[in-house]
This record gives sequence, C-alpha cells and structure tokens, in this order.
Amino acid sequence: MLEKDIATMGKTREIIQKHGFTFKKSFGQNFLTDTNILTKIVDAADLGPDVGVIEIGPGIGALTEYIARRAKKVIAYEIDPRLIPILDETMVAYPNVKVIHQDILKADVGEMILAELADVKEIAVVANLPYYITTPILMGLIEKRLPIDRYVTMMQKEVAERLSAKPGTKDYNALSIAVQYFTDAKIALTVPKTVFIPAPNVDSAVVRLDRRQEPPVQVSDEGFLMDLVHGAFRQRRKTLHNNLASYFSHLPKAEVSALISKAGIEPSRRAETLSIQEFGQLSQVFQNV
Ligand code: SAM
Repeated sequence: MLEKDIATMGKTREIIQKHGFTFKKSFGQNFLTDTNILTKIVDAADLGPDVGVIEIGPGIGALTEYIARRAKKVIAYEIDPRLIPILDETMVAYPNVKVIHQDILKADVGEMILAELADVKEIAVVANLPYYITTPILMGLIEKRLPIDRYVTMMQKEVAERLSAKPGTKDYNALSIAVQYFTDAKIALTVPKTVFIPAPNVDSAVVRLDRRQEPPVQVSDEGFLMDLVHGAFRQRRKTLHNNLASYFSHLPKAEVSALISKAGIEPSRRAETLSIQEFGQLSQVFQNV
C-alpha cells in the first residue's frame, strides 16, 4: 500500500502546519496539490526502472514521490534549508531519493551525474520549476551539453509558448531559437492556477524538451550564431536589414544588405519569420566577413 499522497490539499496543509512552514515568494514556492496533474507530468516524462531523474525544487516532495515510484533514482536540488528536514520525513519511504541542499544555479550537475547517475540508461530532468529562474536553469543545463535526454518541466505558460514557438508566430524569439537549436520543444499540457498553493498569478504549462542528437543546422561558431540571433531580434518591428545594420555597425549598410541576400534571404523580412536553418545560413555568411 502506498502512503497517502503528499499532493492532496489536506496532506499538504498537514505537513506545512506540522513544521510551521511559510511560503517564500522569492523562492518561487507554489506547491502542486493535484494528483491528476502529477500523473500527467510523470506520464509525459516516460519514466521507468532504467531512468535517473534530476528534480529541481522538490518543495515538500509532491512531485518527487510520483517520480520516485516510477524511476530508478531521483536526485533533487532544493535551495530552501527549511525544506530539508521536511523532505527527510516525507521521503522516508523512498530510498531512491537523494536530496541535495544547493542552489541549482551553483551546482556542478555534470559532476553529480558522474557520481550518482552512472548506472542509469537515460536521464531526465523533471520539475515544477521556480518561475523566477526558468530560463537560466534550462539554458544553463542545455548549453552544457550534459547527458540529459529530456526535460519535462512546469513553467509560466507564456515562457512555455516562447520555448516551443514556431517561426512566423508572435511568441517566436531568440529564446525559442536558443532552446530549439539544442532540443525539440513541445507543450505537453497546460495547467490552471488553482492546482497550486499558494495559487500563482499566471497560468502554467508543462514543456517537454528532447535533446537533439544533431543540431538542426551546422555552423562553425555557435556563439556567433546566438549573438547574431539576438542582434536580429533587437527591435522586433524592424526589418532584418535594419537590425543587422545596427548590430554590424562597422559594415556599410549596402554591404549588410548584400550579405543577407548572399545568404539567400530577402533583407526586408523580419527576424521572426526566419527558421533556425536560415539563421544558420546568415551566420555562416557574416562570420566570414
Ligand atoms: N516540486 C514542488 C511541487 O511541485 O510542489 C515545489 C515546486 S515550487 C514551484 C519550486 C521549488 O524550487 C521550491 O521548493 C523552491 O524552494 C525551490 N527553489 C527555488 N529556487 C531554487 C534554486 N535556485 N535551486 C534549487 N531549488 C530552488
């Protein structure tokens, strides 16, 4: 028989009251209290006995126990010292959970994987992220090219829409390209505010990112590509030509225009209409100037 789930309103309130815990907004603390949503998150993560999971921000363990029941091992990073003794208690029935009291942004996750997850076949990050640092957490992990196969994470819906946006849509921006260069991004489910305590001010969504084996476009300098993408999106309403003319301000405007055409792209287009492949072509042409 399984213990009564942590993620019910009653059990969550009981744990919080017992420990005199108060929510800290600055840590992005909104705990999940809906077992259906938790089932959907772990379903979306394709967990199994060969999968090792990295969780960011276990809170009192609502999602952690759902992961622990299906995965081989869970390594959970929690920044708030007040939650460590609570997790010691709530996770007592799950010997495959290890809590690390550390700020994920300061953690050496690569070292941890070597030490703790050498014996798993696949690695997934599964988390209800602290929303104030969604982008630095995900980009930090993705750009390090760690052996993480997929990320199934809850975030603000607006951010989820940007990460998964396709060219030509209003949400498509430099972050969409940065994430989709490394991963295949899809929204797995959207989540109402009412399933959290306290309820956040924004709607949420769970995004699944699958690490790409190969980048969608071959470039000789990824840093140059990402900087160029930021330059191209600097002023969204302006044309590619205008944005790149200010970004490459050392080049004559006519030359910028000629180089964009040389990459096979019409200079009057806007950045938001370009695919990653087209940004790759631009990057190769401008890099050799
Ligand atoms: N997983 C729990 C749940 O779903 O109920 C809690 C999720 S809550 C949105 C975010 C959690 O991340 C909190 O427990 C918070 O203390 C923790 N957190 C915030 N910043 C963090 C950081 N930099 N490193 C690790 N954990 C962090």
